Amino acid sequence: MTSHAWTRERCEALDVADPLGQVRDRFVVVPGEIYLDGNSLGALPRSVPARLAEVAEREWGVSLARSWGEGNWFAAPERVGDKIGSIIGARPGEVLVCDSTTIALIKLLGAALGARPGRNLVLTTSTNFPTDLYAAAGVAGLLADIEVRRVDPDAIVGSLDETVAVLYLTHVDFRTGEMLDLAGLTSEAHRAGALALWDLSHSAGAVVVGCETNGVDLAAGCGYKYLNGGPGAPAFLYVRREHQEIVANPMPGWLGHEAPFEFVPDYRPAHGVRRFLTSTPPILGLAALEAALDCRADVSSEQVRAKSVQLTELFIAALEERLPGAFDLASPRDPDRRGSQVSLRHPDAQAIVQALAERGVIGDFRPPDVCRLGFAALYLRYVDAFAAAEQLVTLMETGGFAGPT
Ligand SMILES: *Cc1c(COP(=O)(O)O)cnc(C)c1O
Repeated sequence: MTSHAWTRERCEALDVADPLGQVRDRFVVVPGEIYLDGNSLGALPRSVPARLAEVAEREWGVSLARSWGEGNWFAAPERVGDKIGSIIGARPGEVLVCDSTTIALIKLLGAALGARPGRNLVLTTSTNFPTDLYAAAGVAGLLADIEVRRVDPDAIVGSLDETVAVLYLTHVDFRTGEMLDLAGLTSEAHRAGALALWDLSHSAGAVVVGCETNGVDLAAGCGYKYLNGGPGAPAFLYVRREHQEIVANPMPGWLGHEAPFEFVPDYRPAHGVRRFLTSTPPILGLAALEAALDCRADVSSEQVRAKSVQLTELFIAALEERLPGAFDLASPRDPDRRGSQVSLRHPDAQAIVQALAERGVIGDFRPPDVCRLGFAALYLRYVDAFAAAEQLVTLMETGGFAGPT
């Protein structure tokens, strides 16, 4: 992308040429709004309400318990998992949809610690998402001698040694959008003999992850952010094929049993990733998530990523052009180190986010001083990124964000 000035005309031309231009029509877009919060709750795909109604009325309402076989409910966690697998670069049979993100992380942490006996450290960052830190502390508290060490992202490699059982990181930072070097850090973890567990909540559906090629051991992430599965959508977990027969689910349940309908008192784990299933899967949530994944099945992660980089680049460049120095860019300026969001630091961040929302630009605020703007490439146009920058420029130039003093 060249650096000459950004104009609405230039953005309109990019929209006309955009290979993802038509995909926007598959989503419900609120008229007059530019939604830059798809990293918190992704937009509703148009196909989802009808699919939910069908599952409720026909599969649940009429077929009832027979749907466990007929409607393919039983296989849904793996079937939907494979659809996410193709987005995060996993092989078939490596991804399971179940539980919530935090629960999935707790399971995988327990599994990782069990697979590295004699090592007592969970290494993570102090910047990690709070739920990840709480989960790590909770798991460590249940086990004898396990400690959690939080370090600065810069200190990760230097902190890897023979005591580390699992390197536990979030790929794209929820606050700043900084993207860690997943391939490099995974191989550093392996050099130290540790497993790498990645939280992909802000990655799946937004950036190229490449679980298989990058050697990722374990991963989990949200269904409701860039995967558009709806509020509280079930999460996904990834277990590398080579590990599946040696890691144990620390929260075993009957549906992860090799033969659940034998109802035997002793647990025998199912083969493959299914052993990480604990409970009866949430079929309505799975149905919404599956319809959302189907509506993007013809779109590659590379395409999404390419457009997302252009959207964040143009937004940042337009601000730099028009409002130099007004904000501290909290996100990396280098797009290779940035996820699909732009975070701006400003002492009045909260008032700015609110005033932007009044102008139809929906972002969110993260304490203490971050305006967080997510760019979901499936349903945002180049003109939207441009118009959002224009709204922000006008707001700052007119001081229209000053709240009551
Ligand atoms: C959004 C997010 C979560 C969400 O956890 P839930 O259990 O789904 O509420 C977890 N980790 C990260 C990094 C997130 O951004």
